[in-house]
Amino acid sequence: MLRTHTCGELRIGDVNKEITLTGWVQRQRDKGSLLWIDLRDRYGVTQLFLEEGKSEASLIQLARTMGREYVIKITGIVAERLSKNDKMPTGDIEVKLTSLEILNTSKTPPFTIEDQTDGGEDLRMKYRYLDLRRTTVREGLQLRHKMAQQTRLYLDSLDFIEVETPVLIKSTPEGARDFVVPSRMNPGEFYALPQSPQTFKQLLMVSGFDRYYQIVKCFRDEDLRADRQPEFTQIDCEMAFITQEDILKTFEGLIRHLFKSVKGIDMPSVPHMTYDDAMKYYGSDKPDTRFEMKFVELNDVAKGKGFVVFDDAELVVGICAKGCASYTRKQLDELTEFVKKPQIGAKGMIYLRCEANGTYKSSVDKFYDEIELSRWAQKFNADAGDLILVLSGEKEKTRKALGELRLHLANQLGLRDKNKFAPLWVVDFPLLEYLPAGQAGNEEMGLPAGQAGRWHAMHHPFTSPKPEDMGLLDSDPGKVRANAYDMVLNGTEIGGGSIRIHDRATQQLMFSKLGFSPEEAKKQFGFLMEAFEYGAPPHGGIAFGFDRLCSLFGGADSIRDFIAFPKNNAGRDTMIDTPSTISQEQLKELSIDVKIK
Ligand code: ASP
Repeated sequence: MLRTHTCGELRIGDVNKEITLTGWVQRQRDKGSLLWIDLRDRYGVTQLFLEEGKSEASLIQLARTMGREYVIKITGIVAERLSKNDKMPTGDIEVKLTSLEILNTSKTPPFTIEDQTDGGEDLRMKYRYLDLRRTTVREGLQLRHKMAQQTRLYLDSLDFIEVETPVLIKSTPEGARDFVVPSRMNPGEFYALPQSPQTFKQLLMVSGFDRYYQIVKCFRDEDLRADRQPEFTQIDCEMAFITQEDILKTFEGLIRHLFKSVKGIDMPSVPHMTYDDAMKYYGSDKPDTRFEMKFVELNDVAKGKGFVVFDDAELVVGICAKGCASYTRKQLDELTEFVKKPQIGAKGMIYLRCEANGTYKSSVDKFYDEIELSRWAQKFNADAGDLILVLSGEKEKTRKALGELRLHLANQLGLRDKNKFAPLWVVDFPLLEYLPAGQAGNEEMGLPAGQAGRWHAMHHPFTSPKPEDMGLLDSDPGKVRANAYDMVLNGTEIGGGSIRIHDRATQQLMFSKLGFSPEEAKKQFGFLMEAFEYGAPPHGGIAFGFDRLCSLFGGADSIRDFIAFPKNNAGRDTMIDTPSTISQEQLKELSIDVKIK
């Protein structure tokens, strides 16, 4: 190495040593008689200094020619600092320069490369390689590396083997559009990039691999919502000869191992909640359980008292905000405005204040007397000083809206602490969900575009129904539960999977329920159904969203800082400037007959 030490390494015990460092000039302070330089590398920052009269004049002169981000190599003597900086690991020492070599110059960078930068998102993305020099961004990637290493360590210890599956494949329906790649050698034909290695990992189970994993890139051509990436990484896993309980135990183990090894947190065992309960008590299939504020249904105490809004509603349901009875009119109006936003969709909100003096004050006092209101309060176990907020209407919509209000309120009350972690298994998802015409995405499934609404696999078509619910498949498909599960962390889905169908007849039945003709099913998934006829073992698995998991462990909102070279919200990489056009010759070679702009 060109250096003897890194810029994060020197301590008080190194005083008087002669050392050599390499790195980037983060900044210089020139006080005339004294010149300080902060030298940065991946490991930290070390302060260097030159002193007029004591250091060689030519050295000082050379140092004064340097700008930010110059790459240098220095030799010097470690000295104890007069004014120490306890915020820096190297803050007790500085290095008195005895030689300086400029290894490369640098243009002035377009933004300051420090923790607090003046660079906006766009600029930082265009010069991502400079952004990556910043400690916060670099630490995100270091965390990611550690998470990946620990994942491999854990899975390897349980005899999982990492197998690479192909990237040029045929479409797998995971509910999004495929990215496609034209095949030059097969004119008019296309590969698809995998939305996940789903069918391959199932085939590996048929092959007898028994325990597979892969930290793998997946691709989904979705309309980019905030913080989605067209290419993302999964920890993808599959096991054979297991029950659902085995999978939940194994992967709860993974998450607990990651918390322990990466963050030093002893995570208690992960609770289970059924999908039905999640919807009923939190209005979401990914409840944030860092705080309580569970829904309480009020139909029995609120209906039949002459208040039409409640009388006409399928569901009257509320939450209790502890200690919030002192909310002002303005604060309550703001909450009402929030639930009335089109994306939330409630028509209005009723409140009940449990006043400190034991009386009740509500926005529907006309219809309910004190005794009736006290019954509401009892249902919530509300104390004096609490505030109850109630929504009503059609069941599903009202639950969803109240779920949003719950999160909004929790944000306001600071209940969503980034340093607190509440993982949860949500189990027993419905097998199917009905998508009305227009949302059915028929074309993506290779079904006729004009077809009416249809049943859609909530997880994916390879998920097995619960055997005890099979009888409902014809009579009441929406009621059939699946052996499917999600792991939720702090209100975010971090992983999901299922026990799979492993026989041809059930898989075929499933495709027909989803609206595939036998020919279509055979054309798209004949290989899988055929494999099931050669001794397919019972199997199941899960995939975790690795980018999101890293961002949650890092306490960040965005996944971008945990991806070395992410795409922006329009799916563009502005640094390499892509997607981009290709030449007419390339198009011709690929047998794609498009005129470029
Ligand atoms: N392939 C599924 C997904 O990407 C995960 C699984 O079922 O294992 O969500």
